[in-house]
Amino acid sequence: MTQQAAIVTGASRGIGRAIAARLAKDGFAVVVNYAGSTADAEEAVRQISAGGGEARAIRADVSSPDDMRHLFDEAEKAFGGVDVLVNNAGVMKLAPIAQTDDATFDETVAINLKGVFNGLREAARRLRDGGRIVSFSSSVVGLYQPSYGAYAATKAAVEAMTHILAKELGPRKITVNAIAPGPVATELFFNGKDETTIERIRQMHPLGRLGEVEDIAPVVSFLVGPQAGWINGQIIRVNGGLV
Ligand code: NDP
Repeated sequence: MTQQAAIVTGASRGIGRAIAARLAKDGFAVVVNYAGSTADAEEAVRQISAGGGEARAIRADVSSPDDMRHLFDEAEKAFGGVDVLVNNAGVMKLAPIAQTDDATFDETVAINLKGVFNGLREAARRLRDGGRIVSFSSSVVGLYQPSYGAYAATKAAVEAMTHILAKELGPRKITVNAIAPGPVATELFFNGKDETTIERIRQMHPLGRLGEVEDIAPVVSFLVGPQAGWINGQIIRVNGGLV
């Protein structure tokens, strides 16, 4: 059997890096995508290779359709085809809507929404039949908390596209799902928060802690694996029970 290949966007650190490592352990050849953090992406590849897995780091800004095409071109060249896309790359800058400047709104939409659209479109055109797509929403979509306006809007749009693409790709046996984590201990979450805010969020969780990247990666592993073929068009809230 030919080895299956997976692209994980934003895999130089955080959740994406843990997903790339897990999928490599599962036997996928993995593309570690990143936008700027070359050294981190290369270190992620080195660690996968050291564990006996196969991986390549490929730079591409997901907000650019040309970069997204290049990412798939390079993945196909390296591994002969692509079976899995994990749309993980994202940014989060928090501010009340009144204080959200145009640059922040536009960047959030460009990466979190257009970036996922670029990935979904390219995957819809190029994934092998029977493939899997997993995108990243967020549990903040259902929480309606102040300061999350622009960010939550992009994630709600990701959920809408997930439901629609699942129907469009059903005939090719490609499943399309999204994961909506609660707060996970990564740079994206910690940036700009003081210890009091972090502790308040920690205590909001029924399980009394933040999520870790290792709480998320196994769920992606399951969704892209052979036993999840009947899970399609779903948003899986992986958040320790936070509502
Ligand atoms: P991190 O900030 O830790 O990592 C983000 C990753 O995305 C980095 O590898 C970064 O690489 C990459 N990235 C950013 N912009 C681009 C771009 N334009 N093109 C390609 N890659 C890019 O974030 P997390 O791991 O925390 O988040 C991963 C996903 O999970 C995001 O979609 C986020 O919204 C979602 N999520 C996170 C939660 C959390 O609490 N952490 C909760 C709910 C959802 P580089 O440095 O090279 O740009």
